[in-house]
Amino acid sequence: MSVQPLRTETTFDSLNPATGEVVGTHPIQTADDIQAALSRARVAAEKWRRIGYGGRREMLDNWKRHLVASQEELGQLLRLETGKRAGDAQMELLMSLDHLHWAAKNAKRVLGRTRVPAGLLMANNKAYVEYPPLGVIGVIGPWNFPVFTPMGSIAYALAAGNAVIFKPSEYTPGVGAWLAASFAEANPDYADTFQVVTGLGDTGAALCRSGVDKLAFTGSTATGKRVMAACAESLTPVVIEGGGKDAFIVDEDVDVAEAAEAVLWAGMFNAGQACVGAERVYVHERVYDQFVTEIVEQARELHASGEPDAKIGPITMPAQKEVIRSHLEDAIDKGATVMIGGPDSIDAGPGGMNCVQPTILTNVPEDSLEMTDETFGPTLAVNPVDSMEEAVERTNASRYGLAGTVYSRRRGMEIAGEIRSGMTAVNSFLSYAGVPSLPFGGVGESGFGRIHGPDGLKEFTYAHAITERRFKPPLRLTTFKRSERTERTADRLLKYLYGR
Ligand code: NDP
Repeated sequence: MSVQPLRTETTFDSLNPATGEVVGTHPIQTADDIQAALSRARVAAEKWRRIGYGGRREMLDNWKRHLVASQEELGQLLRLETGKRAGDAQMELLMSLDHLHWAAKNAKRVLGRTRVPAGLLMANNKAYVEYPPLGVIGVIGPWNFPVFTPMGSIAYALAAGNAVIFKPSEYTPGVGAWLAASFAEANPDYADTFQVVTGLGDTGAALCRSGVDKLAFTGSTATGKRVMAACAESLTPVVIEGGGKDAFIVDEDVDVAEAAEAVLWAGMFNAGQACVGAERVYVHERVYDQFVTEIVEQARELHASGEPDAKIGPITMPAQKEVIRSHLEDAIDKGATVMIGGPDSIDAGPGGMNCVQPTILTNVPEDSLEMTDETFGPTLAVNPVDSMEEAVERTNASRYGLAGTVYSRRRGMEIAGEIRSGMTAVNSFLSYAGVPSLPFGGVGESGFGRIHGPDGLKEFTYAHAITERRFKPPLRLTTFKRSERTERTADRLLKYLYGR
């Protein structure tokens, strides 16, 4: 165990949640540090913009190859700072690289100048739209997927031609600093294009107030509201990727064992610390008992611990354990049944420091915290529904609307169409996050704005409309020399075009 202080006035440590050992010590950067980074970023952004889509693609491809070559190092740091399992870390890297590749490859096609129809009235013009970069983008990220989630903003903002200043979570500053260092190693002449500032919440707040051209936030909804308020002071636009309370719907016509396997992973991968993790499960009453028996049996095979071969690792942010406990206790007080795990399984079992053992509750009252608030642990609330209509109604009753899953052999697409959320997977889990051409983001208290795909590229640009005159207009309307005859013709045209 470490004897170093966790925080001084100028530095803070990141810890391994499985052992409590110090992983690294990082500076607490101030508003002045951020202004200095912003000045460097402004110069870098101009240079980055000028090398165009082709130049940027080359640099981003360099970075991609560098990330692949040093993936072991990054994976190790990722595991140390988060307690993440090796397989979860590998999946996170793979998905991040896929997005980096897609953004670099498609930026020109999505954002480059394209000609659009000018319409009858402006037929003497050519019309174009293009999407130039905003300048410098501030990115604030969470700890649960400290590569994948911020890269959804960083890769797309860079590919769109912006410089980026990234403030990682205080739980994963090493991963953030490593990402910026790797970009600089891959592209030494462009090191200031992607910078990292480390610190606590105040550093994030200073980034919001720094004068960046847009702020992309991923984290809890509560912090998202503070970020938005701080950004409002300078009218800095924001993307808010907030929390979720995703539902997993299971219809009566599915292979129950297969659905149970999918739900178990959806709720408990990354120790349940996923914004798009399944937290509420609605199962058709005709297969409910069978489903519960099956998922509990499968959950008995899992044990959470800090051991490297455990399938479920520790809770990265120890304070979250009390949130999980309060949700479980509230549900139990209101009448839920504990099928496995429960409040006593927190910090329990061999190697279980900071761990929550797999927990499944059934018949959980819809007004309990376990159903209304983000739990962010390896817990699942499994409730019966008498129809898919009831499942949809309960799913949509949440104030969140990030993502969701539907397992149904016959009605999957129909049910998906009824769900109010940013993303829905039918008969698979999480697949939308691995499709780089699909947008990622939520509605309601899960936030707004999109990362990934064409929408994610456009998020870090502004639309620039351009017209170019081809020949003199037959009707000269935009001049003080406009004649009465022209006005009469315009009037006849208006009636002919739109008055019938
Ligand atoms: P937090 O909201 O606690 O923190 C997110 C980031 O905001 C951190 O970098 C944090 O810094 C920073 N921050 C804290 N206070 C401020 C402030 N006043 N101004 C600016 N920045 C601030 O979230 P977590 O890190 O705990 O991440 C978990 C949450 O993230 C969950 O709610 C999860 O659902 C959500 N999430 C959403 C995703 C999505 O795509 N919708 C994806 C992944 C996670 P510090 O750590 O130093 O306090």
